[in-house]
Amino acid sequence: MIDRNRCEGKAACVAVCPTRVFVIGVLPQEARGGLSLRGRLKGFAHGWKQALIAAPDACEACGRCVTACPEKAITLARRDAGSP
Ligand code: SF4
Repeated sequence: MIDRNRCEGKAACVAVCPTRVFVIGVLPQEARGGLSLRGRLKGFAHGWKQALIAAPDACEACGRCVTACPEKAITLARRDAGSP
């Protein structure tokens, strides 16, 4: 799970993930509605570029992305709740 209020699209997760779960892309408009004021300001400042989950089924729950993210934006969740 990616905390949209924290992600700044720095791509550390893309670099460390062995199974290419993430891509960097523009956060869709419909995903911005629930953001905090700080989250909206950060999103705007970074051109809304964030880590997007392109291949959730490829996740092997190794935890590298959780450790690598400088914003502590990633947590692992059970598969039935969506992962990472
Ligand atoms: S926990 Fe999953 S998404 Fe994160 S680096 Fe490992 S395989 Fe990739």
